[in-house]
Amino acid sequence: MAECRAEQKVIGDQDLSKISLKSSLRALDSLRFIAGCDHSRIYLLMSVHPQKEIREAAQVIQQEWQTYDIELTYDEKLYSVVKAFAAKQSSSKAEKLEPEEEKLLAESLRSYRRLGFELAPEKRNEVKILFQELHRIESSFSKNIQEYKDEIFVLPNELIGMDANFIASLTKKETGKVSLGLDYPTFLPIMEFCENESIRARLLERKYKTAEVSNRSQLNKMVELRMQIARQLGYKSWNHFVMEERMAKDPARVDAFLKELEGQLRRSAAKDFADLAALKAEHTTNPKAEFKAWDFYFYSSLRKKRLFAVDSQEIRHYFPLPQLLDGMFGVFRDLFGIKIIEEKAGSFYSWHPELRLFKVEDEDASGLGYFYLDLHPREGKYNHAAAFGLTGGRLLENGEYQRPVKAMVCNFPRAQGNEPALIPHREVETLFHEFGHILHGILTQAKYAQFSGTSVAWDFVEAPSQILENWAWDYQSLKRFAKDWRDSSKVIPEDLVFKMQAAKKAGNVLHYLRQVSLARADVTIHGEIAPCDAIEATNEVLSRIFLPVPPKTAFAAGWGHMVGYAGGYYGYAWADVMAADLFSRFKNEGILNASLGRQLRREIYEPGGSRDENVSLEAFLGRPLSNTAFFEDLGVAAG
Ligand SMILES: [Zn+2]
Repeated sequence: MAECRAEQKVIGDQDLSKISLKSSLRALDSLRFIAGCDHSRIYLLMSVHPQKEIREAAQVIQQEWQTYDIELTYDEKLYSVVKAFAAKQSSSKAEKLEPEEEKLLAESLRSYRRLGFELAPEKRNEVKILFQELHRIESSFSKNIQEYKDEIFVLPNELIGMDANFIASLTKKETGKVSLGLDYPTFLPIMEFCENESIRARLLERKYKTAEVSNRSQLNKMVELRMQIARQLGYKSWNHFVMEERMAKDPARVDAFLKELEGQLRRSAAKDFADLAALKAEHTTNPKAEFKAWDFYFYSSLRKKRLFAVDSQEIRHYFPLPQLLDGMFGVFRDLFGIKIIEEKAGSFYSWHPELRLFKVEDEDASGLGYFYLDLHPREGKYNHAAAFGLTGGRLLENGEYQRPVKAMVCNFPRAQGNEPALIPHREVETLFHEFGHILHGILTQAKYAQFSGTSVAWDFVEAPSQILENWAWDYQSLKRFAKDWRDSSKVIPEDLVFKMQAAKKAGNVLHYLRQVSLARADVTIHGEIAPCDAIEATNEVLSRIFLPVPPKTAFAAGWGHMVGYAGGYYGYAWADVMAADLFSRFKNEGILNASLGRQLRREIYEPGGSRDENVSLEAFLGRPLSNTAFFEDLGVAAG
């Protein structure tokens, strides 16, 4: 940090009359690169280090880096440097810039403008205070959700459909009742498997009242502050402010996107809802049974079981971990034209003995980067799957390229006795997804750290990882490595793969309709016309597009995405539409088509944010983005 501060001072104190690309944008990129590497390594240690003391110390330093980042962002002198360089570029002394550098300059100026740097001093201060107030309320909103606790009490024998292990894990009361909390490991299984409708209803109602009392006014205040900030900065709404930096660029495009999705999905969804309602009538032997919000997961799951009897326990045998990793590496090695070579244990920096390190090389044996695999769970470790960065990529002053280092963190089971670690297929999908983030990082060729690897527009970042999931679902890909570990002559049967695909597809229409309802609620409350009450507005949208929310509930008070994803929730569906569209070329021209794989590498993975993501997408597709492939995958007729 001291090094960064010294460098920051050198850049800030330079003679502005002699400003150059090298002394301004390039120097700032280098400064942010150094700070970013240290920050991300500390962040990784905070998330995965086996020693508690180290994790805690890392957390403290991580916060210091965050504070320093704000200091850098608001440094007046650095702003003058960027402005001076911009002024030079519009004078007769302009340097010749490459397109990536033009983009860097434009985006640097834009970032400052978005912070209020171009406003008169007192206006600018107002914006700063509004941002501070917004962040303060956002933290308390999130904290209220995290700390919120509620529970209902039921008799164990009321929990029909729940397995004995689940019931045994619940806290027991003296009354003989057990407690059902709102945490996901309790809430989700109850919603999916509990036969007792009144228990599902009671628990869902409580869930949808999460933080209602404390967060109703907080949410409205957040929405109001966002609108004020946007207006002060010259935008029509928070949506306009957020989307300017995204691929979508404009709320009108998102609006059209959601409208089209909703229209197409609804036609299909009507049949799906009718099927589920019929299933409920049959299951409850009550022909008049009404289908409710708390029935959604239960009957979706029951329908899946009836239609496609796929035994997920049995499927695991085709995915023993070592064979799965080799298989996945093999597929993407052939597709992207790379080599993946394991480094010898003990020859590299490590935070845990189980850690493995792999070098990625290009076809001509030049190095592309490294990635760690931290595969198994342990006490205190980050408990989802994710790709972390340790070192970014960028072109150095001496003409060499600093190649990236990434880490894939998962929580796969370990081998037990004679049995290798067997990976459930949904985690196979996750593995392919996270490996997409790893490759997006490692294959980068962007010159500037600010654009390298996964540093792309928010609504684009999931596309390069999402698309790789397809290779975990396709028979041509799976048959290369999905072989029963007990008898390696037994390749995963093609009809089983079809069944798995059909089961996946079965719930997708309603899944996406729910996503669209959430995205629509988000853009509604952050639009040009402020809602009277954000919670009621959300209830109205969810009930209209998806399923009526239970009366007197307040879903949005407990909606964590309202911090960080405000005006951006549409990005989930957006990324899936893009991934489906990109993958459609592989569907047509061959899933293992190596020349197509190399095109994907060149047009999507290598550029990162160094050019507009719409340009990258169109370069690969040869046409603008379309949602036809997405609808085809869902089995929804386009048109
Ligand atoms: Zn992801």
